[in-house]
Amino acid sequence: ATPTAVMVATGVGANNGVLIKGGDALERAQKVKYVILDKTGTLTQGKASVTTMKVFNGMNRGAFLKLVASAEASSEHPVARAIMDYARHFHFSDETPMEGSKNTHDPNSGWLSEASEFNALPGRGVQCFISGKQVLVGNRKLLIENGIEIPSHVDNCVIELEDSAKTGILVACDREIIGVIGVADPLKREAAVVVEGLIKMGVKPVMVTGDNWRTARAVAKEVGILEVMAEVMPAGKAEAVKSFQRDGSIVAMVGDGINDSPALAAADVGMAIGAGTDIAIEAADYVLMRNNLEDVITAIDLSRKTFSRIR
Ligand code: ADP
Ligand code: MG
Repeated sequence: ATPTAVMVATGVGANNGVLIKGGDALERAQKVKYVILDKTGTLTQGKASVTTMKVFNGMNRGAFLKLVASAEASSEHPVARAIMDYARHFHFSDETPMEGSKNTHDPNSGWLSEASEFNALPGRGVQCFISGKQVLVGNRKLLIENGIEIPSHVDNCVIELEDSAKTGILVACDREIIGVIGVADPLKREAAVVVEGLIKMGVKPVMVTGDNWRTARAVAKEVGILEVMAEVMPAGKAEAVKSFQRDGSIVAMVGDGINDSPALAAADVGMAIGAGTDIAIEAADYVLMRNNLEDVITAIDLSRKTFSRIR
């Protein structure tokens, strides 16, 4: 391709919100064999919400939710944000109704219990103490690592959520499992069409996620992805990219989060999607400003048209 063709392609990209960092990045995209897509915030909207709240042993639902929200209040994780949002809109029957029209709880107004020794455990959940009791909120791994056994009725409850593409969050208080919360994050509208389009172009889509295998498989099935890597710890996404590069294949990584930066940097073509985090944008070769997965196809197409056909 001539320098003019590269310049034109870069301009066409920019007009579509596809920012390309240089001619090398533009050239590599035509050869992409695998596109590794992060699940949360990339394939999904990244707008998780609580769909189910199962409370065991006859505990009051409001008391349960208050405990969980108090534990999650300092976490930035999408799961925590979903739980906080749900709790803010929950009508706690043991409280007087909120004043005015909005039935929401101000996060700063002291409706939460104080959590001490708060600890966010990446890929697992959170841990803290509330009124002297140890509270754990997270996945199976978190509970198992703390030596807490998961009874089969609890596990079945989590499995049911996972099989319908939701994430099951377990809550333990003083080593006893007191409830399960189901969190759903809907797919982006264009996700399935883009996956189909990539396959038609001869590019293999792969999903990578820190979420559990069951949820991952259910989401992958919904979106039409055949290859899945789940329960990948934040540091493991770059390793996942490298495993696909091993036979010399050119690999693209599409991600939105801080977690994804090492993988974006390790990929031959890193694509940061959405508003993204600054650190993800920094690590990427492409920035897909519109937060639309169709631009992954636009980017590969643009490279193919610039380098393969017009010479
Ligand atoms: P991803 O963003 O791909 O879902 P993460 O590594 O951020 O991957 O999280 C993996 C899993 O760890 C989540 O699906 C959830 O089960 C659990 N987890 C992480 N942080 C929290 C949290 N603050 N509260 C509850 N669960 C959490
Ligand atoms: Mg993400």
